[in-house]
Amino acid sequence: MPVDHAQLDRDHLWHPFTQQQTWREEEMLVIERAKGSYLIANDGNRYLDGVSSLWCNVHGHRHPGIDRALSDQLDKVAHSTMLGLSHPGAAELAARLVDLAPPGLSRVFYSDSGSTATEVALKMAFQYQRQRGGQHVRRTSFVHLRDAYHGDTIGSVSVGGIDLFHTTFRPLLFETHAAEPGDVEHLSRILSTHEEEVAAVIVEPLVQGAAGMIVHPPGYLRAVRELCDRFGVLLICDEVATGFGRTGTMFACEQEDVAPDLLCLAKGLTGGYMPLAATMATERIYEGFLGAPEEQRTFFHGHTYTGNPLACAAALASLDAFESDQSIARLQPKIELLAQLLETVEGMPQVTEVRSRGFMVGIDLGEHDPALRMGHRVTLEARRRGAIIRPLGDVVVLMPPLSISESDLRRLVEITMESIAAATARAPSQDEDLGRMPQAA
Ligand SMILES: *Cc1c(COP(=O)(O)O)cnc(C)c1O
Repeated sequence: MPVDHAQLDRDHLWHPFTQQQTWREEEMLVIERAKGSYLIANDGNRYLDGVSSLWCNVHGHRHPGIDRALSDQLDKVAHSTMLGLSHPGAAELAARLVDLAPPGLSRVFYSDSGSTATEVALKMAFQYQRQRGGQHVRRTSFVHLRDAYHGDTIGSVSVGGIDLFHTTFRPLLFETHAAEPGDVEHLSRILSTHEEEVAAVIVEPLVQGAAGMIVHPPGYLRAVRELCDRFGVLLICDEVATGFGRTGTMFACEQEDVAPDLLCLAKGLTGGYMPLAATMATERIYEGFLGAPEEQRTFFHGHTYTGNPLACAAALASLDAFESDQSIARLQPKIELLAQLLETVEGMPQVTEVRSRGFMVGIDLGEHDPALRMGHRVTLEARRRGAIIRPLGDVVVLMPPLSISESDLRRLVEITMESIAAATARAPSQDEDLGRMPQAA
């Protein structure tokens, strides 16, 4: 008897960001293998990986170079610790990242997810200000953007602004100031009012992903950097989603010639192979933590799997692939093609707005009754047609691997359009009695 994994799942698993009551009643896809831009499920079908396995796959699945690097590393050691020891991969990767990152970011602190990368950046900024002494010890608060998303740990949730995710935890969160995205004047007012108590401003550069692909106006990031300098506040750029080619350049910051004081990396860092994150810091911040052990300037933070050797090997191989596959150069015509294809999507009567930057796309279906789960319906239709996508509410997200072929990119957009048409045609009208509808059709 083959093992029924879907049944084991229903019996024992608890999924992230998922209402388990509806999950249990839905048909389940179990992914067993993958190759290139395709996921292969237990139903024997191949599905286009339209959101890069949650925004992290870069060069496709089963990339020969990354596969080989991982098995070579397995011949050496799977895990040792960064607490009190070093290893070649961690050191080499740090040097490569310093080389690639915007100028001035000279230090790499590893952790294992985007949430921990931002958590680390917040704690570093806070402790740095405290250790500067004098007036700066009063710099204890943070400024973030409305609808920001920086992860799910309590610190990163504190600087997040997505009510659906964060309201429940409000009593646990620290105080922050929320700035209107894209509004330079508003940020300037906040900083001049609270100048002496702000430790850092944290932003997702160019595009706020989880907010539904909110694209900032040109020049905004540059202006944020200038305001931070004017008010003596640190700038944290969270490139967990935008990093590693997503917006068309290696890092989004490059597009506005901005170098942050702290840079958060995760998702695409290992090409989408292993959980690894990095918080990069300037030498000035790093030096603020130096002193004799008894001075208590140490950064007391670190996770057990921090800088895991397998993960570092995958990340190094992914950076090699960027060079050997010329990923960024070969991405440019695909970004143009995608922009063309999206013009047709924007013309659909069911679509209110398409927001995109490089290979990050949000197709906004406008206002629907949340009970209809319109975005989710589109996902189910796409699945029938051979593509895996995952929406943010009623915003359909497309984030294919950078390595996707032009024909697969066309296919992904076609499937998405058909699925939007089918889902909106099939959904009941807003006035119908929702109570009679089968759950999560
Ligand atoms: C996904 C994401 C995070 C959180 O990363 P995890 O690895 O899921 O913890 C943080 N910031 C941004 C901008 C993200 O998109």
